[in-house]
Amino acid sequence: MNSTEIKELKSLLNSPKKIVIVPHKNPDGDAIGSTVGLCNFLKNKNHQATVIAPNDYPEFLKWVPGQEEVVIFDKNQEEAKQLITGADIIFTLDFNHFSRTGPVMEPVLASAKTTFVMIDHHQQPDNYAKYTFSDVSYSSTCEMVYHFIEMLDETQYITPAIASALYLGIMTDTGSFRFPSTTSTTHRVIADLIDKGAKNSAIHQDTFDNSSYERFQLLGVALRNMKIVPEYKTAYITLSQEELDNHNFKKGDTEGFVNYSLGIKGIIFAAIFIENKADKIIKISLRSKGDFDVNQFSRNHFHGGGHINAAGGKSDDSLEETTKKFEALLVDYQKELKNEN
Ligand code: 5GP
Ligand code: MN
Repeated sequence: MNSTEIKELKSLLNSPKKIVIVPHKNPDGDAIGSTVGLCNFLKNKNHQATVIAPNDYPEFLKWVPGQEEVVIFDKNQEEAKQLITGADIIFTLDFNHFSRTGPVMEPVLASAKTTFVMIDHHQQPDNYAKYTFSDVSYSSTCEMVYHFIEMLDETQYITPAIASALYLGIMTDTGSFRFPSTTSTTHRVIADLIDKGAKNSAIHQDTFDNSSYERFQLLGVALRNMKIVPEYKTAYITLSQEELDNHNFKKGDTEGFVNYSLGIKGIIFAAIFIENKADKIIKISLRSKGDFDVNQFSRNHFHGGGHINAAGGKSDDSLEETTKKFEALLVDYQKELKNEN
């Protein structure tokens, strides 16, 4: 975003507007933190702002101040459509293509005749927005929202509620400040958010120490199911619908499971395949260390995308067929996988 665009946006936001803010489907910590944080900021500036999430999000995100006002599109379609149609500005956060909001919400957004603003850190952004702040070098969309507020010269209006929401997404998208996307600037932003009232230790607890006993039993199953393909420095996990059902599975319970595989010495490529019988898909999460590009891997083979080291996708085949396909594909990437260290 150049300085002219910033000026234009600043003057646009100088008078009260009807604003809708949208995260991607299956919102994670960064998607909820960035949208709810920005929404609180805009409300404090006297805008009529609403977050519309394509679908519900996990319980462990339900402590975020202001999240209780999020409108869930698939549960309140009429209200959501009216808000979208009546919006002067629509912010789309933490995604790069309307399709990331899912097949029901996508056409509603695509047909909205309004000013779009994109704030996002995924690769290959679409060009639907009049104002695009897209940069893959940022750790998280929450960090970008902080910089966006900084560009508006308004960080003094960051309240403890906004600081907490933005802290959340930086924390979750950086794996608690350990992934390579964590920079010294990230830490400076975090320091300022703590100064502005984010209770850092409480946020970690509220987010991560909130699991059910069954979730840990399910993690046990996932770890037992882990398969190593040592010649390709790869490990993957499967969870069948039956295994989920046996452990009272709730949205968000499998969050973070895929990362355990990367904890094994020598493993640089990790995947988890989770059966979803209701949607008739296998949901896939991919993670890597170093230069192995899981965004491209997912785009090429599993209808997905994301970042170089973290991406998602899906498969319409059975769990068994999907993992078979996955193992067979590794051969095509042997150069990249074997050269990594
Ligand atoms: P996760 O594996 O945690 O669901 O997602 C990892 C990263 O990939 C996140 O940045 C997420 O937004 C992105 N992602 C997850 N699923 C998809 C997908 O189906 N398509 C695309 N383009 N990105 C995805
Ligand atoms: Mn993100």
